[in-house]
Amino acid sequence: MLPSRSNLKVSRRTGFVADERFYWHHAGFITAGCDIATFNPTDGEFIQPNSGSQGYFENESTKRRMASLIDVCGLMEKLDTSTVKKRAAMKEELMLIHGRDYIDKVEDMSRRNGGDAGDFAFFGPGSYEIAALAVGCCVEAVNSVLDKVLDNAYVLCRPPGHHAERDKGMGFCLFNNIAIAAEHAIKVRGVKRVAIVDWDVHHGNGTQQAFFERSDVMFISIHQDNLYPPSSGSVNEIGAGEGEGFNVNIPLPPGCGDGAYKRTMEAVVLPSLRKFDPELILVSCGFDAGFQDPLGCQMVTSLGFSQMAKDVISFNLDIPIVFCHEGGYSPEHVPYCGLRVLEELCGLEKSNVKFYDDGLDYGYQPCQTWQEDVLQRVRELHGL
Ligand SMILES: [Zn+2]
Repeated sequence: MLPSRSNLKVSRRTGFVADERFYWHHAGFITAGCDIATFNPTDGEFIQPNSGSQGYFENESTKRRMASLIDVCGLMEKLDTSTVKKRAAMKEELMLIHGRDYIDKVEDMSRRNGGDAGDFAFFGPGSYEIAALAVGCCVEAVNSVLDKVLDNAYVLCRPPGHHAERDKGMGFCLFNNIAIAAEHAIKVRGVKRVAIVDWDVHHGNGTQQAFFERSDVMFISIHQDNLYPPSSGSVNEIGAGEGEGFNVNIPLPPGCGDGAYKRTMEAVVLPSLRKFDPELILVSCGFDAGFQDPLGCQMVTSLGFSQMAKDVISFNLDIPIVFCHEGGYSPEHVPYCGLRVLEELCGLEKSNVKFYDDGLDYGYQPCQTWQEDVLQRVRELHGL
């Protein structure tokens, strides 16, 4: 049963940016090594290649379903879907982070049949324009919160961005949406300190690379240890030169759930933010640390993501915040996680709203016995 929409009360002006064209980006086929340009299932000659939009882990379904849930439950009516200007980033904006040759290469391939922008960054015809639109929307969302037209914003951008390095697409990412948005804030808008919090289950290597020697951007990444890219994101990567101490990696072991992530926020992320005193916070919001995700081995529920969002937002309500969507590959779970985060962003009054039974994620109950937070449970039981 749908909740009564008139019951929904929010306390903040939250921008929500989605675009049909984001869903049209094609990231390849599920068969390993299958090049989208040639549809040549090199490594998968014995396995049936998938096709269509469901082809690869990174497909439009999770994003479309997240937007659908927000719409159908009525929350969309309480969000601002028109203030943030939807436009493609100009080449000069892409060049804030990426090399001209790389940008031209992606544009050229996109005009033909697409291909691989580097390492697991397959794309089809027309993806250059879609990726540029994703960047442009993140940049404009930053403009809107800096202008104080909105309190905060969520950009459901696709393709994702945090793996994209200066001259190389990686891990489904073509252009680094959040890094370009951060650099825009500094170079164009004169912001002095930008904090980027990245809780995608994979390490945000591209964002780290962009600001590794910079003290005006603090990059804080919570990720599963040594997942993707391999050997990236160790605790010892703390920045270099002027940037020493401004790169904070928190590689967690597999199996961490809400408790571990909550503790990580309290023990490392929030103290780091306090020390840095940012003027703008950007969040690389991946949902692939979710317990149903096919590409991660963490156990976070939608409530865990909700808690993290709450922590970052309530850190200082005067600081503008933009969430940029990253990974998350469970079409069943991502919508709930996204809804929870949007609830926190817009300050939904929850006392009289019940979007789904028991506040639990779909499919979560059978998994409760796998639960992860053993130490906390032991401490509770023994009063420690
Ligand atoms: Zn990811």
